[in-house]
Amino acid sequence: SPPRSSVIIIGAGISGVSAGKVLAENGIEDMVILEASDRIGGRIRKDNFGGVSVELGAGWIAGVGGKESNPVWELASQSGLRTCFSDYSNARYNIYDRSGKIYPSGVAADSYKKAVDLAIENLKSLEANLVGEVNEPPSSPKTPIELAIDFILHDFEMAEVEPISTFVDFGEREFLVADERGYEHLLYKMAENFLLISEGKILDNRLKLNKVVRELQHSRNGVVVKTEDGCIYEANYVILSVSIGVLQSDLISFRPPLPRWKTEAIEKCDVMVYTKIFLNFPYKFWPCGPGKEFFIYAHERRGYYTFWQHMENAYPGSNILVVTLTNGESKRVEAQSDKETLEEAMGVLRDMFGPHIPNATDILVPRWWNNRFQRGSYSNYPIISDNQDVHDIKAPVGRIFFTGEHTSERFSGYVHGGYLAGIDTSNSLVEEMRKEKERKSESQTFL
Ligand code: FAD
Repeated sequence: SPPRSSVIIIGAGISGVSAGKVLAENGIEDMVILEASDRIGGRIRKDNFGGVSVELGAGWIAGVGGKESNPVWELASQSGLRTCFSDYSNARYNIYDRSGKIYPSGVAADSYKKAVDLAIENLKSLEANLVGEVNEPPSSPKTPIELAIDFILHDFEMAEVEPISTFVDFGEREFLVADERGYEHLLYKMAENFLLISEGKILDNRLKLNKVVRELQHSRNGVVVKTEDGCIYEANYVILSVSIGVLQSDLISFRPPLPRWKTEAIEKCDVMVYTKIFLNFPYKFWPCGPGKEFFIYAHERRGYYTFWQHMENAYPGSNILVVTLTNGESKRVEAQSDKETLEEAMGVLRDMFGPHIPNATDILVPRWWNNRFQRGSYSNYPIISDNQDVHDIKAPVGRIFFTGEHTSERFSGYVHGGYLAGIDTSNSLVEEMRKEKERKSESQTFL
């Protein structure tokens, strides 16, 4: 029979790695980490583009400068990660229409305020409808500027409508990671504490890359894990850190199947797709300087190449623009060729900056939705939810413990959510193992 370890961790993103670190700190060294891809990091991933390091997944440390210290900010400070302060709030003063005119700041500020009021109104009516009071149907944005602001508000800045725990607890500032070693450097630093690493390479044979888990067979005695390449691993416990999108897919089958309360909760959680498209240019033609980092394109189609950022603050002279798409637009663009996407993006840029701007020399389109090890960018719980779903998604099923950003009650969707979830799940497992040991020694006393 296959060698049996105490714990198998499935997935080596931030939550899997922080879970492993806590196990090691508690003396549980005989763990195996099975990771489907050929690297650690998961949704924290850099790539070289236009001569610099860009973040395809998580880019910001969100929630800094508040009453409590964000643990990811602490990790970043300890390892000297290079970051830049980002101020999204200026974006509303750089809204372009399709003829390249910037909306006057008064008009933009008014539209913004109206959109925030409307969103608050709609939220109230949603709450009222939930308790059975009949309410006015929510009104919806219509003009290009209204649509653009609605997109920014709902897909980026809900904080102005609803308190978001990340900003309440850790502060409202956000810092962009701009480090050649990438955001993932934090994971390597963490892994160094319990895995054998030399010159940036993990040599520890407890970490197994390219191991796609396809089946979990679980019973009162333990868990048998089968991978796509036909390997079998056995453990007393499993920590499963794959994303909510993967849990919703049929990549991993459970024998016996997960109970209904579990699968229903998993189905209820929305998956957000968030795509940062990088474009490289021979020279820069967009405004730079204070308050210009972010700009918005107002189009009659909601979310059509709406949110732009230049990378001059992070990497001066890099001549890179980033445009962010979400959900339907992300899926649409993932399905087409990068050449088509480049043409669309150039059309939008020509609307804003005129016909004479140079063509992009390179484009990078991450595909988080079609990646079968991700199936989306992050979890998105309905605004009005009573936390029961996240409890159910997090709750262990027999010997299978769940972790990942989607199991974080306060910080789902964020890097710090994943980090804290890993710690939390491992602490619960360590407690469970202690209890099991106690039960065993008690029953032995009886014998
Ligand atoms: P993951 O990183 O997904 O780790 C799970 C691991 O499991 C992966 O490595 C995966 O390959 C592996 N796996 C999957 N299936 C299997 C299988 N069958 N067998 C074995 N292994 C498997 N957060 C922020 O705080 N700030 C941001 O600015 C930010 N921006 C984001 C932008 C994008 C485009 C994306 C995608 C995410 C962003 N996030 C951001 C969210 C943040 O990246 C995630 O919350 C966090 O990284 C999730 O970590 P995790 O460990 O829960 O999951």
